[in-house]
Amino acid sequence: MTDKKYKCDYCPAKFTTNSNRLKHMKTSKMCLSSRQNVEIEIEIKCIWCNETFISSIMLESHYELCTVNKENAYMSLKKEYEKRIEELTAELEYANTCLDLYV
Ligand SMILES: [Zn+2]
Ligand SMILES: [Zn+2]
Repeated sequence: MTDKKYKCDYCPAKFTTNSNRLKHMKTSKMCLSSRQNVEIEIEIKCIWCNETFISSIMLESHYELCTVNKENAYMSLKKEYEKRIEELTAELEYANTCLDLYV
């Protein structure tokens, strides 16, 4: 076993911690240029107000300043996720029915 068990999704680089890995994937110029042709959208956005940022450092400092009513934002976020869960559960059930057909 090696200490560097966190591997970059896009290049052979390996890291000792997951946060180093994530940082590398977002900031390493070499790594980013190696996947120029790959359509990957890294979304860095505030979960409260949906404002987007170009770096996670900017997002972190924004979190301290974000003035959105977090209670309201939390409720709508919760609703949105519950809807997703329902949709995904329905999809899974549908897949399950399809499986049954071929048993
Ligand atoms: Zn990489
Ligand atoms: Zn915000």
